[in-house]
Amino acid sequence: MNMDTPNRKKRIAILGAGESGAGAAVLASMKGFDTFVSDASAIKEKYKTQLNDYRILWEEGRHTEALILNADEVIKSPGIPNDAPLIRQLKAQGTPIISEIEFAGRYTRAKMICITGSNGKTTTTSLIYHIFKSAGLNVGLAGNIGNSLALQVATDQHVYYVIELISFQLDNMYDFRANFAVLLNITPDHMDRYDHDMQKYVDAKFRITQNQTADDAFIFWNDDPIIRRELAKHGLKAHLYPFAAVKEDGAIAYAVDSEIVINTPVAFNMEQEELALHGTHNLYNSLAAGISANLAGIGKTCIRRALSDFKGVSHRLEYVAAVRGVTFINDSKATNVNSCWYALQSMKTPVVLILGGTDKGNDYTEIAQLVREKCSALLFLGTDNTKLHAFFDPMGLPTAEVNSGMKEAVDAAYRLAKRGDTVLLSPCCASFDLFKNYEDRGDQFKKYVSAL
Ligand code: ADP
Repeated sequence: MNMDTPNRKKRIAILGAGESGAGAAVLASMKGFDTFVSDASAIKEKYKTQLNDYRILWEEGRHTEALILNADEVIKSPGIPNDAPLIRQLKAQGTPIISEIEFAGRYTRAKMICITGSNGKTTTTSLIYHIFKSAGLNVGLAGNIGNSLALQVATDQHVYYVIELISFQLDNMYDFRANFAVLLNITPDHMDRYDHDMQKYVDAKFRITQNQTADDAFIFWNDDPIIRRELAKHGLKAHLYPFAAVKEDGAIAYAVDSEIVINTPVAFNMEQEELALHGTHNLYNSLAAGISANLAGIGKTCIRRALSDFKGVSHRLEYVAAVRGVTFINDSKATNVNSCWYALQSMKTPVVLILGGTDKGNDYTEIAQLVREKCSALLFLGTDNTKLHAFFDPMGLPTAEVNSGMKEAVDAAYRLAKRGDTVLLSPCCASFDLFKNYEDRGDQFKKYVSAL
């Protein structure tokens, strides 16, 4: 093919054929692009069928450079690191690399409600979606959760999209505009993908505000020192909606006198006790969701009802069972140190903490004090627990170690626990050393707890 032919179709190569890649491919082919999908691993049957249904060319188990380097634009799965050799090559030759969200955003005028942060994204995204849905709005759930935005834009357009954005998606977003941007918090995570340079990760998170105008809303945690510092640097055009745990300068939403209050745009209040989600971190999530719903014009009664009947999301401080006086809680999604901090902070009994797995450059100093205060014992669960021993052993707590799997871990934690204790799986780490993913880790935990 002569690449200089003036009328040739624009070519889009899509790297990675998971939910986002397969969805982007469908949208690209529907929009008339010469579309090619390449995945270095095996593609799931479901996505192969999807691609075949739209007669989209694909390959798996390799990246054929000749079919990718000739693309006018590349849509990259967030799972592929920026320093992968092929990505470097594409960058060096000046090929634009974008995320599926950036691509899909070009083809819809829907209102975009985007949520990011180091922790709380899935909970808050699901909660906002639940409120909008309960209010009868035409809303889609997308991003790192649910069906890809691209597939929905291609086949099932909505008026609103509630989109969970991880930093790896934001990395490749340029012109996309979030009408409501929610930034929950910024604490160290994924340092291995950001050259151990915290500022690079912070910059990625702040990209959620790029392109926002004075008609848009930026909803954020008022007490996050990093967000505050960056706000001072960026001078955003969007209208600011800061929230906090207590009434304080600047915050437009908070808890006071056993109520949660949102002052603007429409005054809203409800009993804090009625919130479906508990713990300080979930207060933040509920406030962020309440502000978003309020901004969308959803009535107070509807917001109150939805904030109180939300069912929660699995693997996030999920109650599993009580066995002979020992409570078991599954917080497998706590894949960084800060989320474990919030889990420990919300515990009301002595805790046998199960932690460990694939370390992403963790610094455990943040939870040291809470571990001393709240933990009666520790269980390290991972193929290599050296770092955990080095940090926690000097505390002198009863400690056990498991390198094999979840059954042994549940049994060992149960042996360490006394009546009245809580066994908390809140690992601070990714799960890939012993499990398929955090869901697998949490599901196995629940299975072996049920078998006790
Ligand atoms: P994410 O999608 O950002 O990973 P999740 O909602 O899946 O967030 O929750 C991940 C972990 O973080 C869970 O352990 C949860 O209990 C905890 N968490 C939830 N919301 C917050 C928050 N606002 N701040 C800190 N930790 C939180």
